[in-house]
Amino acid sequence: MEKTADAVIIGGGIMGASIGHFLAKRKFGKVVLLEQRTLAAVSTGASAANVRTYYSNPVTVQLAKRAVEMFENDKEELGGDCGFRQIGFLLLLDEGWKVAGDQILRTEISNGVEVKEVSRGDIAELAPQLSLDGVVGGIFEPRSGYTDPVRTTQSLVNRAKDWGLVAYEGVGATALRLQNSRVVGVETKQGTLETGLVVNAAGPWGGEVGTWASLKYSLRWSRESDLVMQLPANFGRLPVVSDPTLRFYFRPHDNDKLLAGLGFPKEIEPLDINNYDRNLDLKTRRRIEQSLFQRLPALESAEYHHGYASIYTITDDWHPIVGPEPDLEGYYAFFGGSGHGYKLAPPIGESLADIITGKTPKIDIHAFRPTRFLEGQPFSSAWGGGNRG
Ligand SMILES: Cc1cc2nc3c(=O)[nH]c(=O)nc-3n(C[C@H](O)[C@H](O)[C@H](O)COP(=O)(O)OP(=O)(O)OC[C@H]3O[C@@H](n4cnc5c(N)ncnc54)[C@H](O)[C@@H]3O)c2cc1C
Repeated sequence: MEKTADAVIIGGGIMGASIGHFLAKRKFGKVVLLEQRTLAAVSTGASAANVRTYYSNPVTVQLAKRAVEMFENDKEELGGDCGFRQIGFLLLLDEGWKVAGDQILRTEISNGVEVKEVSRGDIAELAPQLSLDGVVGGIFEPRSGYTDPVRTTQSLVNRAKDWGLVAYEGVGATALRLQNSRVVGVETKQGTLETGLVVNAAGPWGGEVGTWASLKYSLRWSRESDLVMQLPANFGRLPVVSDPTLRFYFRPHDNDKLLAGLGFPKEIEPLDINNYDRNLDLKTRRRIEQSLFQRLPALESAEYHHGYASIYTITDDWHPIVGPEPDLEGYYAFFGGSGHGYKLAPPIGESLADIITGKTPKIDIHAFRPTRFLEGQPFSSAWGGGNRG
């Protein structure tokens, strides 16, 4: 194990992989990534990995737009084939969500996203299998889709190894070494790494890593499940669909299956991040199926394939916490994906690497700074305050 590093990344989910990749790409020196389990073992590996641009905040729209570009050019931009399926993304809107939908559409268009308003008739053409009860229209993003989260994480890390990144799996950080409000090292069970720069990308454990430097973050954790159904033969194509009316999302999976999960607006289901059941429970399965069969009646006789549960790490405004801490030199936060952090991680990592290396970031991510809550400047969105639209 190395004794020194120019930067140490704690966590090998999509956020750690992203910042590790872009720091190594910018020739930051010796970048060491520590992952206590295996790459993408926790939230990232369970992610539906949908990539869409529907946000109502210009910063998140620009980041999501950049994410689409990155996945479109994954080999150059993200180090390898990320399994991007560019099948489009459809947001269904009922009368109640129309105002939020208009705001989202306006923000997307004014930020240069290729997106269009669609009528019920358009939707029936895009996805003839859908029952359109309650739907008055929608928003369609032709360039969005979904990806393979494990492949993406591995691609980011593996390509960065060519530029000198060293990644350890099965090695957890156990403490930070500090001197006069500066980071000077990271402790692991395998020894101490001297470093002047650490990125806390520990996902659900981001708060715990923060406590090692007496930093306090307000986080909540929620159990989040997906189920996978076997599609009947000749089911036809579908885009990724988000359905706020029935509060769930679904998309094709592999070539012959469908993946579905409960979406926004979603109740928090608290869980113990160190000890939770990774299986899909029957109650949640029935809830997802209820929405699924309502929207896709042809699936009522479809075969259940499998399901699983993982973790949402939720901040007070449902947006990630990213950037330096003013009172601790050499420390950067990058966690709190709040159920939508997968797609944002590559472009945020790119901008954070620019900030760390003293360049002007491609997209200004100051709005994610850890101090925004204390300053009374959390994110807001078309879906209302404190959530993730
Ligand atoms: C079911 C589900 C569906 C989702 N769908 C989407 C979606 O469609 N689109 C989207 O954009 N987002 C989605 N998300 C959210 C997205 O997946 C997460 O925001 C994102 O994966 C978080 O990445 P992360 O790197 O912060 O966390 P994680 O992937 O949890 O990674 C953190 C890593 O840090 C490691 N770690 C922790 N402590 C230490 C330590 N002390 N030392 C070393 N390593 C440590 C952990 O082992 C872990 O591997 C979904 C999430 C879930 C659960």
